[in-house]
Amino acid sequence: MTQTFDIAVIGAGMAGATAAAFLSASKRVVLIEAEEVAGYHTTGRSAAIWIQNYGPPDVRELTRLSRAFYETPPAGFSDASLIRQRPVLLLARESQRADLDAALATGEGIRRISVAEAHMLVPALRPGYLASAALEEDAFDMDVAAIHQGFLRMLRANGGALALRNRAQRIERHGDVWSIDTSAGETVLAPVLVNAAGAWGDGVAALAGALPLGLRPCRRTAAMVDPSPFDVSNWPLICDVNEEWYARPEARTRLMVSPADATPSYPHDVQPEEIDVAIGIDRMQQALDITVRRVEHSWAGLRTFTPDGSLAFGWDPTVAGFFWCVGQGGYGIQTAPAAGRFVADLILGREPEAAAALVPVVAPGRFGCTRSR
Ligand SMILES: Cc1cc2nc3c(=O)[nH]c(=O)nc-3n(C[C@H](O)[C@H](O)[C@H](O)COP(=O)(O)OP(=O)(O)OC[C@H]3O[C@@H](n4cnc5c(N)ncnc54)[C@H](O)[C@@H]3O)c2cc1C
Repeated sequence: MTQTFDIAVIGAGMAGATAAAFLSASKRVVLIEAEEVAGYHTTGRSAAIWIQNYGPPDVRELTRLSRAFYETPPAGFSDASLIRQRPVLLLARESQRADLDAALATGEGIRRISVAEAHMLVPALRPGYLASAALEEDAFDMDVAAIHQGFLRMLRANGGALALRNRAQRIERHGDVWSIDTSAGETVLAPVLVNAAGAWGDGVAALAGALPLGLRPCRRTAAMVDPSPFDVSNWPLICDVNEEWYARPEARTRLMVSPADATPSYPHDVQPEEIDVAIGIDRMQQALDITVRRVEHSWAGLRTFTPDGSLAFGWDPTVAGFFWCVGQGGYGIQTAPAAGRFVADLILGREPEAAAALVPVVAPGRFGCTRSR
């Protein structure tokens, strides 16, 4: 079956869902997804944290610009509240004092707190572990499923289509139109193709005849443990100042622990390695007096970075009608609403008002001289 749209977006994770939702307000959009469920890959595996002082400057800007949407989403977007305040406690051992000073000097809204205050916030902290600490109050847990579903609902409400179980497997340009053949035997015709395929971004580009950007999918692991007898529901997110590990309260007796790994990988349905789970728990236990009797479950996802670590949003410099929306790394949820709007503005030829200064910073053309087949 052949269907014609104005814009075809490949990948129904958070990146594709937000771009498709904003574009569908004025264009006929199809969101093409290989899996049976949207959000099966990285989007469904995140730690769900919004931290202003995280990532490179372009990410921080889109994080800042996303906050208002999360605090006050449009009517009908979701029945659930999308964010809930959860401060971040930054921990520094003796050898990390200078790193904490640097985080305080460069971050916005982070304040030093005493070791005694840190122990009050997290009573499980082992005596003697901590040399200095800081608190970022204005951070949030995010309801990723509600956010993702909200954008998919917005797409459908605008008349957009979501094509699940359709892996784009042949992509050709005939004149001014892309012809995309999928694994379900469908053919999609559209003048504009948006590559929001996450870890598969370079692969989708290769299918379309575009040069790769050199995307780096990196495995990150998380494990859920029972911290009882501690009730962790009101604890902050606990984060090593150099991101060597972190722990995020999930519910009263559930604590997510990550070794903050970033192991280079390739695009696939990545699974956790036992060694990474063990490293995460070991690092957490050096700081916190928590006995882990069993790991309730563990998972891993691919955080995909561009060669310089910043986002890649923009038209391909050589292949007409091919738009990149990749490189969301570890920030694709906290930046999502502003990123989706930004991408839609660029595709529709509108000035992305608030984020106009980012256009050259995130342009995929910046990798021009280093790209090769
Ligand atoms: C452990 C972990 C913790 C994280 N914590 C946070 C956090 O606290 N805060 C935050 O903001 N971010 C976090 N992230 C990062 C965030 O999850 C990602 O940046 C975001 O989900 C990326 O979304 P995406 O849509 O680009 O990728 P994905 O969700 O992977 O979506 C890409 C989609 O493209 C589809 N696809 C690929 N090729 C094709 C094809 N040929 N045809 C059709 N479909 C195709 C795939 O099936 C996939 O569904 C975390 C990530 C991990 C792994």
